Amino acid sequence: MRRRIVAGNWKMNGSKDLSEKLVGYVRSETGSLDNGVEVVIIPPALYVGDVLRLAQDAVSVGVQNVGRWQSGAYTGEISAEMAKDAGCRYVLVGHSERRQFFGETDEQVAEKVSLVLASGLAAIMCVGESLEERESGQAETVVAGQVRAGLASVVRAADGRAWQNIVVAYEPVWAIGTGKTATADDAQAMHASIRGVLEDMGAPAEKISLLYGGSVKADNAAALFSEPDIDGGLIGGASLVAEDFVSICRYFPAGA
Ligand code: PEP
Repeated sequence: MRRRIVAGNWKMNGSKDLSEKLVGYVRSETGSLDNGVEVVIIPPALYVGDVLRLAQDAVSVGVQNVGRWQSGAYTGEISAEMAKDAGCRYVLVGHSERRQFFGETDEQVAEKVSLVLASGLAAIMCVGESLEERESGQAETVVAGQVRAGLASVVRAADGRAWQNIVVAYEPVWAIGTGKTATADDAQAMHASIRGVLEDMGAPAEKISLLYGGSVKADNAAALFSEPDIDGGLIGGASLVAEDFVSICRYFPAGA
């Protein structure tokens, strides 16, 4: 059975105060979930220590980005090794905001995926098409290209076990933070297509968790999560509202 994951990406939001209020609540409300969901919080790196302390192992923690280098004179960057050392379990790689505002390329995404795996952490690699690409019928081709390029180093790795630490998040760019969500049918179709690409790359596709992200809210999560190839969600805005985030975590059908 694939891992079911609901991950909250706080982006550049949050504070010590929010961490105190939100993480304790999420920990107590999701600690007894019977639907097998792994809850992950991905705060700004400065708050990772606080979130880890408050999560008390009941909630996994990740960082939103790491540098393309192992260590050294790269002012402002943090490394995958540091994220591991701090106690994180996940690293978001190639979020569309990193691609859009920081010019991150598929090649850089691949380098980061490689460093994340080498550190022993799991990479949540984000892919997704723009509105223009969707409207011109290019969505599947664009996303397939991102999957192949971003995971190229995993294919090259001699050890096939590297795939165990890969999660792919499909996040159509036009749905992120806009209130527009892909329909459950469209999201399912893209997830099935991504699984087909992974299969073609020689990955154990049936074992790799695929998350959907893009304006997931308490009122649309149930429909998305009941699709067969959607194994969880990457949640932005709604992850900052404790009750909404907890509701989303609960929307997986129990034991399915
Ligand atoms: C995200 O940040 O990955 C995201 C999906 O944001 P939102 O849920 O706000 O659209």
